[in-house]
Formats: sequence, C-alpha cells, structure tokens
Amino acid sequence: MTDAEPAVAGQRVSTGSLPGWDDVERLVDEAYRYGLASVEGDIATYIPRLAQVDPELFGVSVAEVDGAVHTAGDADVAFSIQSISKAFVYALVCQELGHELVRERVGVNNTGLAFNSVVAIELNDGHPMNPMVNAGAIATTALVPAASAEERWARIQDGLSAFAGRRLELDGEVYTSEADTNQRNRAIGTLLQAYGRIDQDPLAAVDVYTRQCSLLVTAADLAVMGATLADGGVNPVTGDRVVSAEVARDTLAVLASTGLYERSGEWLFEIGLPGKSGVAGGIVTVSPGKGGIGVFSPRLDAAGNSVRGQRATRYLARALGLDVFASDVHEHGPYPYQRGGVA
Ligand code: GLN
Repeated sequence: MTDAEPAVAGQRVSTGSLPGWDDVERLVDEAYRYGLASVEGDIATYIPRLAQVDPELFGVSVAEVDGAVHTAGDADVAFSIQSISKAFVYALVCQELGHELVRERVGVNNTGLAFNSVVAIELNDGHPMNPMVNAGAIATTALVPAASAEERWARIQDGLSAFAGRRLELDGEVYTSEADTNQRNRAIGTLLQAYGRIDQDPLAAVDVYTRQCSLLVTAADLAVMGATLADGGVNPVTGDRVVSAEVARDTLAVLASTGLYERSGEWLFEIGLPGKSGVAGGIVTVSPGKGGIGVFSPRLDAAGNSVRGQRATRYLARALGLDVFASDVHEHGPYPYQRGGVA
C-alpha cells in the first residue's frame, strides 16, 4: 500500500465509542468509494473455481458491538471464506482445549513466509508456528475434539455459523475444485504427520480444512463474525455467547501478528488492528470493544490479500478511530506526578 494517504477529516482515536449511526453509514460509503478507486491486483487462480469470479465485486460492512450493521456495495454477495476460517476455528479449538495446549501445539509466531510454505515447516523442526498459515491451520483443525471427521466438520460448521449468526453453507463447487488440486496442502499435512505434529489421518484433516475454507460468507457476515470477537465472544446480533472473552482476546492477539501472513507487520503498521484475509478476497478486521469490519473484493496483492479490501479497511480504521495504537493526550488538571517527586 504505497498510494497517498486517504484524506480523512477529524481522525478519531481508539478509546471511546463509535460515532453515531448516520456518521458510520456515511463513512462506510466513503470507504467503499475509496476502495473502488483501485483496480490493482489479480484474482486467485490456483483454485480453478475461484478464477471464475467477477473481479469487480466489492462489498464493505461494519458491525457494531450493539448489533448495528452497516453495508455498502456487494456486502450481501456470498464468497468462500477461505483462510479467514482459520481465525474462527482457532478460537473454537482454544475454547475446547485452552490457551496453553494450543500455544504449545500450534504456536503464535509469524513465519515470515507465504501462507502455504513448506519451507517454514522444515525451518522450524516440523513446528507449524501459528494457526493462520496452512500448516498451523491444518494442525488446528485436527485438534477439534471429535470422534470422526464428519463430527469434526459438523462442529466447525456449527461453530462458524454461531459466529456469523446464521447457518453457513458449503460451496460444493469451490470445495471440489480445491480438493482436486490441493496436493500442496496434502503434502503439508503429511509432513506434519512425519514430524509427529498431527496424531490422526492427515488427509482427513486436510479434507475438513478444505471444507471449512469453502464455507460461504458475505462481507456483512464477516463484519458480524469480527464483531463477535470484538464483543468479548458474544455475537452482538443474536446475543449468543460463542467463545469466552479470554479466547476472543487470545485470537485477536494471534491475528495481530499473523493474520496477513508475511504482510502482517505492514498491515498492523498501516491499519493498527488485528485482521485476517482469505484468497477469495475477504478480510475481517476487529476493533476490540467497538466492532468488526468485513470486506470482499477478489483482486489480491502478491501475498494474497484483497487490494480494495485493504484500502476500505484502512479508510475505516482512520475515519472511525479504530487504530489501537493511536491516542490523544488525556485531559486533566495540574500534573500531580512531576519528575523528581510529587508537585
Ligand atoms: N483454502 C486455501 C488454501 O489452503 C486458503 C488459502 C488462503 O485463503 N490464503 O490454499
């Protein structure tokens, strides 16, 4: 993202609440228009079915922790969630197995390498490193407690549906297309097994992972899923608790350093919020205590992140005052603690 800064009047900081309904509506529209100005990037083609998508589709949505949902453009068009599923499956597994076990088995550090890197596994003695790259995501999916692959899949579908607040369905064409061409992910699963990092049939785990990636969501769904992580694990539209507040917090901490693969540092620097992208063109971004942003546009940068989606998210992070690193000086009376002693 090297283009000029978006011109945002009256940038707000992270503390406090979101502006009123009308202002958020207007800023979501502005973010949409700001995103629309870019035609850069290319759609993903390595999953053949994804190559058939209309590259012009573009939707933006903000869901607030009070349940308000704002949309612009194609925010109700369904697309496959892809890697964004990793964030929510990770949350479900942490809920079941706890912070420590998942931290030890999967890890929380960035690989600095592409999402489907095999080299990253070799460089780290077979450790998958984090749950947001394919190796760590396949290992995480394998950890979902279940007696069979079918039950594991059912739990994931139910869990992600609870985050979205509606039943999410599989895109059978995307699933078949990826399952026919995912030799690389099968190799990653088998390599994890060789290193003793997966204690069940790795190809069955890859298959469930491929299904979770093929779940259909909209930008508005992603906003609600993000708002659930922003709202201490409670879905602000349905009122259902999906995960604990601790798990929501842990998930966001992992996303902050790993959600956009090897571009995670750049993302955090530009946007100042945890986010997760997928190769179909979705990105979810979370502002703790305030809400979630969901965007969808299929043209991607070289790391596989939606170009228009990043632009719209950056606009909203600034215009809505979401960046967790931005602060104002606290207003108060005479400074009581002066250097050298209390005044
Ligand atoms: N299903 C995709 C894969 O495993 C997800 C990748 C992504 O969204 N970055 O290749």
